[in-house]
Amino acid sequence: MSPPATAVVRDRLRIAIQKSGRLSDPARAMLASCGLSWRESRDRLFCHGESLPIDLLLVRDDDIPGLIADGICDLGVVGSNVLIEQGGERIARGLAPAYRPWRELGFGGCRLDVAVPDDWEWTGTAQLQGKRIATSYPSILAQWLLEQGIDADVVVLSGSVEIAPRLGQADAVCDLVSSGATLAANQLKAVTTLLESQAVLAGPIADFKDARGELAAMLLRRLDGVLRQKDSRLLLFQAQRSQLAGLMRLLPDVEAPTVMQVDGGDSLALQALCHGSMTWQRLEDLKRAGARGLMVLPVERMLA
Ligand code: ATP
Ligand code: ZN
Repeated sequence: MSPPATAVVRDRLRIAIQKSGRLSDPARAMLASCGLSWRESRDRLFCHGESLPIDLLLVRDDDIPGLIADGICDLGVVGSNVLIEQGGERIARGLAPAYRPWRELGFGGCRLDVAVPDDWEWTGTAQLQGKRIATSYPSILAQWLLEQGIDADVVVLSGSVEIAPRLGQADAVCDLVSSGATLAANQLKAVTTLLESQAVLAGPIADFKDARGELAAMLLRRLDGVLRQKDSRLLLFQAQRSQLAGLMRLLPDVEAPTVMQVDGGDSLALQALCHGSMTWQRLEDLKRAGARGLMVLPVERMLA
């Protein structure tokens, strides 16, 4: 049965990413490693998907949650700081939640910290009572102050938050921090963390009901493979059967090791998928426990 003429049938997926900024290149790279490619358009705001019916919309990161809420975009790559802030603002305005993080992407890591002037002797959050705190994250900050039982003035600034104490606009700030260099340059020090943030693939609360559902499921499958592959290594070595139990105790974090008998004798060949880093120290510990011919190989692609 064909759909009624008025129904909007969407058979392409549209993903919003940051046009230019910290998340642009890693977002593109991650989507490209899922096998997506695009025809670059002249205006560079919309990129038509070539390898798959998945298009890109290049926008400001702050616009991404709203674009998902309005159904202009299906998915978006955005910092969880922005997603949580705007989600909180929606709830404060009495609106229903319209998006959620679908996957954490492992890049764009930063913290949302409260920072105070260097010369404050920090004794605890009670010191913020009655103070003015400048931030671009009023919803997250207000929620945190409520939980801490602190009454403070939230001064909302859209940028250059870290300069507010020097300008006399605020006593403290609540801002994004990665290395802390910007804070230090403004004679501020971080004293407490409200949120650990990273880039996420954000999407609507409910799954898609049309052809986009299958596309999204395929993208998530590939993304999960890419995310797992990124921190995976293949460990290969040989050992005597009698040493197997001792070696396995040194590898509690490896996934489903495969053990093969070599030459029908006591000698075994092992291969195992490990996550995180396989340091020289760990390799030396394995060697001492009897592992021979140790090899750590990168993993090119994974599909569960
Ligand atoms: P736009 O023009 O798209 O609004 P922007 O200035 O808001 O750009 P960026 O500074 O590129 O954006 O930051 C985008 C995201 O990068 C942040 O929302 C945050 O999730 C992440 N990020 C990681 N480290 C930092 C950092 N040290 N400072 C600010 N954002 C960071
Ligand atoms: Zn922004």
